[in-house]
Order: sequence, then C-alpha cells, then structure tokens
Amino acid sequence: MAQGTPDVRVDTGKPHPARVYDCLLGGKDHYAVDEEMAARLPENAFRDARLNRAFMHRAMRWLAGRGIDQFLDVGTGIPTEPNLHQIVQGVNPRCRVAYTDNDPIVLRHAEALLVSTPEGATDYIQADVRRPAEVLAHARAFLDFGRPLALSLIALLHFIPDDEDADGIVRTLVDALPSGSHLVLTHGTGDFHPELAGRATGDYGKGGIRLALRSHAEVLRFFAGLDLVDPGLVTAPAWHQDTDTPAPQAEESSIYVGVARVP
Ligand code: SAH
Repeated sequence: MAQGTPDVRVDTGKPHPARVYDCLLGGKDHYAVDEEMAARLPENAFRDARLNRAFMHRAMRWLAGRGIDQFLDVGTGIPTEPNLHQIVQGVNPRCRVAYTDNDPIVLRHAEALLVSTPEGATDYIQADVRRPAEVLAHARAFLDFGRPLALSLIALLHFIPDDEDADGIVRTLVDALPSGSHLVLTHGTGDFHPELAGRATGDYGKGGIRLALRSHAEVLRFFAGLDLVDPGLVTAPAWHQDTDTPAPQAEESSIYVGVARVP
C-alpha cells in the first residue's frame, strides 16, 4: 500500500478499538473478535463507555450554547445516535462538524455522519491523528481556523502511548486553534481501580491494541497552557455545566474528562 494511503480494508481477524467500543455501547457494528474482547473486559468498561458518551453530549451542547459553531472531532468512532453533529445542530443548525478517524470501519459508516441540517454541514476525514498536520490540512479546507472552534479528543488518547508522542500530537492540534477555541478531552485511567485497569490493559494487549491509561497528573498535562473550565479535570459523571440535568455524582467512572479554553 502506498505511503499515506489510508488502509480501508476491514480486518475481522483482530479486535479494533472502534468496534470494541461499539460493542460496549450496545451497537451492532462489530465482529466476533471484538465481542470476545469486550466480554473479557472488566464489567465497568460498559458503564465507562456509556458515561463517556453522555459527557460528550453535555459538553458539546454546552459549547454550542456558548456560540461555538465549528467542531473538529478526532477519533469519532462508529456512529452512535445521537452523534456530535445531531447534538450541536440541535442547538444551532448552522454548526459545521468535521469528523476524523483512522479505522476503515468508521469510513464504511461515514454516511451516518454526513447527514446535516441544510444550514450546517458535516465532513468526514479518514486520517491518523499520529500525523496531526494531515488532520489539520484536511480540516482547514472545511472549517474556518480564523474563528473559534472546538477540538474533541474523546476516548482517543489512551490508544496513543507516550512513545507515539501523544503530547506532541495534542500540542500540534491545539497550537492551530485560535483564541476562544476549546479542547474537549476524555481519557481512561487506572487511578481508581489499578487491578481492573491492569486487566483491561492486558486484555487489549492480547488483542494487539496498546492501551495507555494515564493518571490525573498525566492527563492534566494535555491541558498545559489552556484555561480549564469548571469543574476542571474530573471523572465523567462529575462534569456538568448544564443546569437541567442533575449530576449523578454517585456513579463512579474511570474516565477523566475536561474542557479547556484556548486563551
Ligand atoms: N470518540 C468516540 C469513540 C471513541 S473509541 C466516543 O468517545 O464515543 C476510540 C476511537 O479512536 C476509535 O474509533 C478508533 O478507531 C479511534 N482511533 C484510535 N487510534 C486512532 C488514530 N491513531 N487516529 C485516528 N483515530 C484513532
């Protein structure tokens, strides 16, 4: 395969993060290998996937309500309704949303992401975040980087170990954002249940997926130089900016979430 050409073949012989996650969310777009891996994962992985998704809804609704109308979502995953564009276009139909993923299965389902309100628009970019300049080059053709936008890296970076320069990737993407933009980031951690986290990392590893769970301090570093929005970097159910949903504080989660503004 030529360098730079995205691999569009779906490999059903080994599990893929997007498909395992689809399985955790109760979706239908995965294969037996993915189901086998999800079944081996600790029980809390299912709850974490659901709470992660619910946070995405709240954060995006909040941002759209504050006037952000352009979104770059990297590591989109298999479409799961409501998708990001449905959330934000529900607030402001003029919103433009660019989705990015490197998994061929997401490309296959991209039509579901390409439906838009007539006033807004959506786009799908098949790209690898480990080449952030490429992601940005595509995104610039669709979004106006002269105005604030939201960059979302939701449940993505724990698939990028330090030796693949997770920090540098985030810096490159964030540095491209104009003042008033926001970073929305969620990340798995082993801080609360190190044993379960070790098991999950081992299970993913057996499937050929390198899971890089990070501590609170390590995830916080991704927000360096940015102004974290209240309540800061917290677990998924604890992040609430909207007032109409009561915070289910009792639910525990091993996903850290945060939203920060580019000064
Ligand atoms: N953001 C979605 C899906 C999370 S699953 C949500 O939170 O609901 C993680 C996603 O990241 C998968 O779809 C996987 O294919 C994608 N991903 C993993 N590594 C990637 C990479 N290097 N470049 C782009 N996407 C990647």
